[in-house]
Amino acid sequence: MPLSPVLNRTAALFLLLNSPFAGHAFDYENHRLINELALQSLPAAFPKFVQDTAARERIAFLAGEPDRWRNTPDNTFKHWNAPDHYIDFEDLEPLGLSADKLPPFRHVFTMQLGEARARHAATLPAIDPARNQDRTRELVGYLPWSIAEQFSQLKSAFSYLKAYEEGGTPDEIANARQNVIQYMGVLGHQVGDAAQPLHTTRHYNGWVGANPNGFTTSRGFHSWIDGGYLAKLPVDAASLRTKVRSARLIRSEDRATAEPSLFPEVLAYVREQHRLVVPLYQLDKEGKLSPDQPQGRDGRSFFEKQFLTAAQMLGDLWFTAWKEAPADTYLRSYLARRKLNGSGPS
Ligand SMILES: [Zn+2]
Repeated sequence: MPLSPVLNRTAALFLLLNSPFAGHAFDYENHRLINELALQSLPAAFPKFVQDTAARERIAFLAGEPDRWRNTPDNTFKHWNAPDHYIDFEDLEPLGLSADKLPPFRHVFTMQLGEARARHAATLPAIDPARNQDRTRELVGYLPWSIAEQFSQLKSAFSYLKAYEEGGTPDEIANARQNVIQYMGVLGHQVGDAAQPLHTTRHYNGWVGANPNGFTTSRGFHSWIDGGYLAKLPVDAASLRTKVRSARLIRSEDRATAEPSLFPEVLAYVREQHRLVVPLYQLDKEGKLSPDQPQGRDGRSFFEKQFLTAAQMLGDLWFTAWKEAPADTYLRSYLARRKLNGSGPS
């Protein structure tokens, strides 16, 4: 006998929650797709080595990398990796912090957070140590910093690649290119996570606290979207491929004189996705995330738009990192000296 729609969803959710992948972000296939669409956005002038078959496959594969790290139980590692996948913006305000004033420096933010937690200790909910073995529950997440830092890491790789291409050995050039491919791929993961609005909110897995709209409080909501709904109703990748625009520079007016970090632009991108938290819950309330209901397909276009948003942002970050990478003058002069002395690797 066929299961009722509700039971069907419950059964699927049960399977999901009991799978080793429960609670992760967009599933690997969707992260892959974001990286593939971003590759498609790169203009012809962009370095060609990223577009050969092996490089494209590696960049797509690496879209899932930071989620693979989550399957390793070492708490030191989890403490570092887990908060890079999210930021719960609503948790700032009760601490007297504001999303408008986040510093571009990860560790400065951590210090601010620690001071704020100490100031508000009396009103903060207690943390169960048994559920906090990786000590991440005091944090609100580092997603914008993670993206901005990885952007600069990629820019650095382009800088030294340029120097090696002028004066390095074939092996050095090949290694530097592999690093560019690595950083491009991994960066795609966090950019994709940000486009899933549940990665930007304390309501990341069902609505918590006051709930005047009567949104779902299901603790399986996140898994349902990433692995349930989108597995049943995959986005139309072919149609998305027709909608990709060419990558362009991410640049605010005063960038020429200001700090070259992209933190403000990245933060704006993540906050933009946070505005979609309520619309996403509303879709669920209207049955638009329930494939067994007549309107159940309507939610898919929400995610198609988000995948495209992430892919364009990622392509723009890659393009900007390449364009803005200054020549690594230190390495360039070192390589020039080495050549003069005839002392480099053969
Ligand atoms: Zn993730």
